[in-house]
Amino acid sequence: MIYMETIWPDGKRCAVCFTFDLDAEYVFMGTNPDVANMPRVLTQGDYVWRAGIVERILDLLDEHEIKSTWFIVAMNAVNHPEEVAEIARRGHDIATHGWIHEKISHLSKEEETERRVKCVQAIEDATGYRPVGNRVAGGELSPNTLDILKELDFLYDSSLRGSDLPYKLENGLIEVPSYYEMDDFHLFADYPFGNYKARMLSPETGYQIWTNAFDGYYKYDLCWTTMFHPQIIGKPGNMMLLDRTIEYIKKKPDVWFATARMIAEHWKNR
Ligand SMILES: [Zn+2]
Repeated sequence: MIYMETIWPDGKRCAVCFTFDLDAEYVFMGTNPDVANMPRVLTQGDYVWRAGIVERILDLLDEHEIKSTWFIVAMNAVNHPEEVAEIARRGHDIATHGWIHEKISHLSKEEETERRVKCVQAIEDATGYRPVGNRVAGGELSPNTLDILKELDFLYDSSLRGSDLPYKLENGLIEVPSYYEMDDFHLFADYPFGNYKARMLSPETGYQIWTNAFDGYYKYDLCWTTMFHPQIIGKPGNMMLLDRTIEYIKKKPDVWFATARMIAEHWKNR
């Protein structure tokens, strides 16, 4: 078959990358140790494990034959190795997302390197999968983060917001940008911190924001990437929303459903 030349493989005109940040109970604990003494807040995170949310999401992705990327807080791999290994077993890309979802921007280069090595090891021990991607958790990158990733043979980062397409950083690392408009936390999270108190929008609003954004990324041949959190998108009603969103996207021809790793590999070799 002859394909029209596009920036995406096999004549596809748009990339769609579902990513999930598996924070669970560490979502605020890494930056606020008081959370350890807040049972209600903690159960909003460990809900992920008790309610079988990882499997719920994996089943829906399997139904749609979509492979995704999971940015995993390393302590979740230590505490729940079976659930985390299942993500890799079903063919998804696994990437790092902090040790306990902590701030890293104040660490020395040595400390940050050490911690990153520990994250990679914990995830590899649990899953047999060596992560090559990262999304910063709990705040900003340090001045050394991108260099450390490169030195440790990472392929990509997904913390920055600088384009609607992947881009190559100066040190050769590929950036697969994440976008605030595809962050379910901004729409549906209810946590007693910052701006997350009782922020419950209608699923119709989520559907409109995400599908409208998709239309734009599709029109301009770009890379539509989600930043979903299993404790939010995995709620029963939000799963219906996720399903509808996938159905909407699948109606358009020539969409490349890919993991962040696949997208980074493609971009590196362009
Ligand atoms: Zn996170």
